[in-house]
Amino acid sequence: MSAIVELEAVGKSYDGVTALRGASLSIDAGEFTAIVGPSGSGKSTLLQLIGTLDRPTEGVVRVDGHDTAQLTDRQLSGLRAHRIGFVFQQFHLAAGVPAIDNVAEGLLYQGVGTAKRRELAGEALERVGLGHRLRHRPHELSGGERQRVAVARAIAGRPGIVLADEPTGNLDSASGGEVMGLLDGLNREGTTVVVITHDHDIAARARRRIALRDGEVQP
Ligand code: ADP
Ligand code: MG
Repeated sequence: MSAIVELEAVGKSYDGVTALRGASLSIDAGEFTAIVGPSGSGKSTLLQLIGTLDRPTEGVVRVDGHDTAQLTDRQLSGLRAHRIGFVFQQFHLAAGVPAIDNVAEGLLYQGVGTAKRRELAGEALERVGLGHRLRHRPHELSGGERQRVAVARAIAGRPGIVLADEPTGNLDSASGGEVMGLLDGLNREGTTVVVITHDHDIAARARRRIALRDGEVQP
């Protein structure tokens, strides 16, 4: 196993508010990790730093062996586009846009042509069990289906890492179970998965747990 994500003494402050401090951890390629902790403990901050959506105020974040501080914004965007898929609690789908285009748009920064984007998007939607919903718009889908579209968007580019911030937080337990089943399946095929969750059952399913409290990783 080799580390795909490494944090060394990472801190993040927002205008004097310390959201995360002294975080050092390493995640191996192929791991399934749950991040747990009370509201406000720094879980989303940690995931955004791992996903290079934000830069730390202190310490080193390495993804795929790259010290992210050494990369330009453009290089970081490229790393994210090719290597990392995101799933959020609020789905973040474009309103009024068919499922297939919501997923295809996630591939815009991969440098893939339109036809290929749609082909990959269709495959990803098949993969999450929505091959029969390609033309449906978000408001025509259930919450669970919307989140499966979001998972399809996250995985269409075949990223090595999938990061999910409370992906089942807005779902009933059956739909939440389906979404977790998808993440589980991806992990079994080798994708590194990091998921923030309040759900104890889900956290228990993860092979590894990182607990946060008041912005600090618990031993
Ligand atoms: P969690 O996801 O565990 O609920 P967060 O990482 O969202 O926690 O937040 C940790 C702390 O950082 C909280 O006190 C929160 O208010 C603060 N925080 C998070 N994001 C911002 C931001 N963009 N600006 C200011 N404070 C923030
Ligand atoms: Mg959060």
